[in-house]
Amino acid sequence: MSHNCIFCKIVRGEAPANKVYEDDHTLAFMDIFPVTDGHTLVITKDHFANLFEASTEALLAVAATAKRVAHALETVVKPDGLMVFQLNGAAAGQTVFHYHMHLMPRAHGEPLALHARQPGDPARLDELAAALGAHVRDKNRE
Ligand SMILES: [Zn+2]
Repeated sequence: MSHNCIFCKIVRGEAPANKVYEDDHTLAFMDIFPVTDGHTLVITKDHFANLFEASTEALLAVAATAKRVAHALETVVKPDGLMVFQLNGAAAGQTVFHYHMHLMPRAHGEPLALHARQPGDPARLDELAAALGAHVRDKNRE
């Protein structure tokens, strides 16, 4: 746990997030600066700076959550493709130093970008989080 870490604050409920799914080890929520519609982050609940620090148990849990969210994105957003990536260190483009994985829907011919400068439309982020969350919960019941 890190007191000044924005993702730890989201885990503790001290900062808002458009939550999609959570379990004992992971939390998925909409990236507040979405590069594309449906851009979602999956984070470990424990504070690990990056892949090198994260426990194998936590990484396996992230993979399982990423698959759940990926299926939800496939159904709800229906992208041409889905890019999954994870950045370690400033030199790699990491901007929040708490382990997180990006799930980014992609369209044919769209230019490649890793980060956006404009915050997403709050209403759309709410709508996506609700639709994706409902899909993940439905699948969990099957
Ligand atoms: Zn943290």
